[in-house]
Amino acid sequence: AAYDKIDEKEAELNCYVTTTKEAALAKADEVQAKIDAGELTGPLAGVPVAIKDNMCTKGVLTTCGSRILENFVPTFTAEAVINLEKAGAVILGKTNMDEFAMGSTTETSHYGATKNPWNTKHVPGGSSGGSAAAVAADECSFALGSDTGGSIRQPSSYCGVTGMKPTYGTVSRYGLIAYGSSLDQIGPIAKDVTDCAAILETIASYDPKDSTSIRRDDYDFTSALVDDVKGMKIGIPKDYLIEGLNPEVKAAIMNAAHKLEEKGAVVEEFDLSLVEYAIPAYYVIACAEASSNLARFDGVKYGYRTPEYNELHEMYKKTRSEGFGPEVKRRIMLGSFVLSSGYYDAYYLKALRTKALIKQAFDKAFSKYDVILGPVAPTTAPEIGSSLADPIKMYLGDIYTISVNLAGLPGISVPGGFDSKGLPIGVQMIGNCFEEKKIIRTAYAFE
Ligand code: GLN
Repeated sequence: AAYDKIDEKEAELNCYVTTTKEAALAKADEVQAKIDAGELTGPLAGVPVAIKDNMCTKGVLTTCGSRILENFVPTFTAEAVINLEKAGAVILGKTNMDEFAMGSTTETSHYGATKNPWNTKHVPGGSSGGSAAAVAADECSFALGSDTGGSIRQPSSYCGVTGMKPTYGTVSRYGLIAYGSSLDQIGPIAKDVTDCAAILETIASYDPKDSTSIRRDDYDFTSALVDDVKGMKIGIPKDYLIEGLNPEVKAAIMNAAHKLEEKGAVVEEFDLSLVEYAIPAYYVIACAEASSNLARFDGVKYGYRTPEYNELHEMYKKTRSEGFGPEVKRRIMLGSFVLSSGYYDAYYLKALRTKALIKQAFDKAFSKYDVILGPVAPTTAPEIGSSLADPIKMYLGDIYTISVNLAGLPGISVPGGFDSKGLPIGVQMIGNCFEEKKIIRTAYAFE
């Protein structure tokens, strides 16, 4: 059924870079036999999933949305994907994304833009736009995305689906092609909160192959699916309700607050502070890490190599010039600049200090509130083409999502209505580190 939907809609939407129909149908039979034999009993057994194309899949092309990996077939599989396979999920293919997960629209992919299934003139968001659009269009039952600065939550919001970024260290990053390693986290994009909790329960694990993986003893996220928020304290940062926030989005957040209040939660506004420093700090840190992480794509070890060159340096230069797109090049240059001698203290170190202060501001907020409620993005999905010309404007759109990554917190985007153009609006709930259950509970009571 998923492949029927893919056949019907893919030519218009372009959610996938690669589909693996033959292997998936064979796998489905294998899984069915195990289900029949009682060997596979979990909720994901036989469920078709799409994987963002920055997660390595053994024997299956993994492009990261880039020309430089146009022929990269990994010899190993990402840990989160292995966890899904063990649970009997069936992989349908690899989803489109902004090149190296850099972007908010899925337009920077070398493999063409993905369209928003609600209105194909609009972007699906990004960078996990292929995953979110595939879920919204029933081209899969659920998908994995990655979130460095909002890339699970924002496309989920634009596509009217539910997406969750777990606490940093909860899902292994082994086999996830690194963008900003201190910020990257894999998470589920699904139809509802119940599915997200069940998927997170499956993909979360302690993994010694990821040095930042955390051993937890509370992976039973589905236990938080209780329709009860009585007495919970929910804070809305006043600093989020600022100029630039679309009034229809603001109204959706206020509706959500009202609904939770009716269910017995206590909702108040408070000053989070430092919100305006999140974007500059994030773009310094993310680009710095990206410039280092992307040094490995040199035409020697992986993927694309320029066909004509005379000596090694020329080969490097031409490979990287031809292999990377403009947004990736911009970020490598920015990252190299802020890490260079003389500028390291002025930019990179300052950004790290800002990151620590942002974490402190959240610590203070969570000493008072169980959950923070707010928008996911200032607007609904923009039209295709409108963001590409103005990268700064695109970066500013990340204001509500990136501080969550800087502080390592969990966050969820749940559908909260539609704007007057019929485009979905997402509502974000943010929890303290390791308190996924509180946001799952709140989101479940809200949806
Ligand atoms: N839009 C942000 C960026 O371009 C976030 C991307 C992400 O989370 N991967 O960096």
